[in-house]
Amino acid sequence: MQFSTTSTTRPTPSEQREEALRVPRIGKVFTDHMVTIEWTREDGWHDASVRPREPFSIDPASAVLHYAQEIFEGMKAYAQPDGTVALFRPEENARRFNASATRMTMPSIPEALFIEAVEQLLRVDSAWVPSGQGASLYLRPFMFATESFLGVRPANCFTFCVIASPAGAYFKGGAKPIAVWVSEHYTRAARGGTGAAKCGGNYAAGLIAQAEALRHDCDQVAFLDAAEGRWIEELGGMNVFFVVDGVLVTPSLGTILPGITRDSIIRIAQRRGLDVEERPYSFDEWRADAASGRLTEAFACGTAAVIASIGKVRFGDGEFHIPVGPLTDALRDELVGIQRGVVADEFNWTWRVR
Ligand code: PLP
Repeated sequence: MQFSTTSTTRPTPSEQREEALRVPRIGKVFTDHMVTIEWTREDGWHDASVRPREPFSIDPASAVLHYAQEIFEGMKAYAQPDGTVALFRPEENARRFNASATRMTMPSIPEALFIEAVEQLLRVDSAWVPSGQGASLYLRPFMFATESFLGVRPANCFTFCVIASPAGAYFKGGAKPIAVWVSEHYTRAARGGTGAAKCGGNYAAGLIAQAEALRHDCDQVAFLDAAEGRWIEELGGMNVFFVVDGVLVTPSLGTILPGITRDSIIRIAQRRGLDVEERPYSFDEWRADAASGRLTEAFACGTAAVIASIGKVRFGDGEFHIPVGPLTDALRDELVGIQRGVVADEFNWTWRVR
């Protein structure tokens, strides 16, 4: 598909951009352009354009505003030591985007077109990729229903869009261990629901639990399963791992988001000869293993934060602490090293943007 390109006539002044790259504020400052591609039932994907970033003008009856047909992805572009820019496993983002689309009765987009859209934005806004330590350019591909129609059925028109925002370290405290609040009241996903899809509605429903976590001085909420309220599922925006008797344990896929970081960690750990178990792990086990010392480390992982040690767990009746350990650091170093081009990429995960 041909992309039409219109460059902005009002680029961010370079001093302002340099300042935004020096002190990145993810999600608050954006690059100058965006990519959009339209889809209609009659014509499929069409009108691909790279254009100045600007507000959308949508009808008040647009389906997304009423029935929440919206999905998104989160990925990062990393400056490489040789001055090029690389994406990390973008085919996996494209694949997951289409899995989310299928779940939400939205059109799938050819994987190559998804990646091309991201690359087009990176080419036009290449000056926005930060090179500072821990910094990257966060990319947000998303799709929403634009059809003006009040009725509960899949929409007939959608807009796909990619925007970008320079990112620094995710948590305010940098690489400090995070505190997690276990929500015993709210759940995130149930069997047959949308837990495995990256749709906006999941996050809207989780905000109240995340607010509860913040009220308890925690960085993130941990959700338990909806059926029994017993099994750890994932955090508000991250997957979770436990090191128990030297084995890396992580909740099985099903109602959780199949994280690309999660998958990468499993593969790095297995190649290092570690035992990895994808299995249900209960909150009771977590507490007991922390108390007995069988649990030596726990960490959260995702594109935004990469890998963050969990140092404290709080819940209705109290809290417990978890030591920070060497495995978390070693896995983080290897993963970040591959992403930034300073560790050999034996998995072939790096995607050079041309
Ligand atoms: N779980 C949830 C709910 C998320 O929002 C995210 C982040 O996107 C993840 C897990 C981690 O996924 P990934 O590693 O692909 O960023």
